[in-house]
Amino acid sequence: MNLNKREIALERASVLKMRIKDYLDAREHIQRGLLLTDEIRKRQVEIMKLLSATSEEFADWHWQLRNRIRDVETLHKFLPLTEKEIEEIKEVSKVYRWAISPYYLSLIDPEDIYSPIKLLAVPSSFELGDHIHTLDPMAEEFTNPAGAITRRYPDRLIINVTNECAMYCRHCQRRRNIGDVDRMSPQKQIQESIDYIRDNPEIRDVLLTGGDPLTMGNQALEWILSELRKIEHVEIIRIGSRTPVTMPMRITDKLVSMLKKYHPLYLNTHFNHPMEVTREAKIACEKLSNAGIILGNQAVLLNGINNDKFVMRCLNQELLKIRVRPYYLFHAKHVRGTMHFNTSIDDGIEIMEYLRGYTSGLAIPYYIVNAPLGKGKTPIMPEYIISRGKNSFTLRTWEGEVIVYENHPSMPILEMIKKKHK
Ligand SMILES: *Cc1c(COP(=O)(O)O)cnc(C)c1O
Repeated sequence: MNLNKREIALERASVLKMRIKDYLDAREHIQRGLLLTDEIRKRQVEIMKLLSATSEEFADWHWQLRNRIRDVETLHKFLPLTEKEIEEIKEVSKVYRWAISPYYLSLIDPEDIYSPIKLLAVPSSFELGDHIHTLDPMAEEFTNPAGAITRRYPDRLIINVTNECAMYCRHCQRRRNIGDVDRMSPQKQIQESIDYIRDNPEIRDVLLTGGDPLTMGNQALEWILSELRKIEHVEIIRIGSRTPVTMPMRITDKLVSMLKKYHPLYLNTHFNHPMEVTREAKIACEKLSNAGIILGNQAVLLNGINNDKFVMRCLNQELLKIRVRPYYLFHAKHVRGTMHFNTSIDDGIEIMEYLRGYTSGLAIPYYIVNAPLGKGKTPIMPEYIISRGKNSFTLRTWEGEVIVYENHPSMPILEMIKKKHK
């Protein structure tokens, strides 16, 4: 090999090594669930003691759901809360519901006042300070043609099958539906939704969401899946569930062997921070993947949790390790009670800027701003097109180098083939 070429390649490699150094240094300080298995386990043992539970019970999703923590006294036994925090949680409880699965609680480091998991799960007075945002900025209530459906697109729609979750995210966009009690959408509403889909043959993609469809029992869920599968024009079914993150023991062998009868099936989950990617989450995602269910992640860009280019890069790489493909990064909606989580769109663009080129294309989600009033998902990207000329584009590479790329109209290839055959 020409020595000169090798020298150039080695020099380039040393520049590339420099491009990743800041991330590798920053990663040292990011909490990652897969590296903290022992600590998490210790906290789980403590929680089991507090709730007088056996390991078998802790590993049972029914037990997890029944034993969600929802009063501040129990929470305080595990988390050192200040008097002020206790008062705050009580005040918030009067307005917004909260509940945390014992498993998800075990991801909180009680010593860390900035714990991202605590921010995601434990109510705070910030929620009451929001007098600007409304409860339904997406006007979902105006896009409900039948039953429990939300329809905003030509060929697909969602059915809200339940309002229950294993943990009520503090940034929840549907908190207006969460109410005070768990309820599956009445059978009649679900039946009406299925009838609507049957009557509208352009619907080829149905998303089950809520709430969290996987808080339902296998039987109820299977009824919906099997009814949908009887409709010929339903090509794919998607489930939106946060249980792989908040209650991974929900993903049982029984569940996946039921689900895999209804392929092609996709499941989008919702990891927001690398701390959530734990050994348990990995086992759950592997079970789903092994059953042929394609996994995607829909993260939300959240102030103080993941609006950091390195945390987000780390999250997306951790997800690929457990076979979950980053799909969307949502700009946080302007839902009342969640204002403290809102970031600027600039934060989102900066994060996207430091993904492309710096890491695997597979680790890069689409960054989406939801247009108000349910006008749809709008993708936002850093600007790579600097200008358009008559026969060229001026572009910028991921490293910021400006290049000119020739651009000409496509040749009429089909016409040309036709001529040849005359
Ligand atoms: C997000 C969403 C979908 C799915 O959108 P995709 O971009 O296909 O993932 C479908 N219906 C509604 C109402 C939605 O909000």
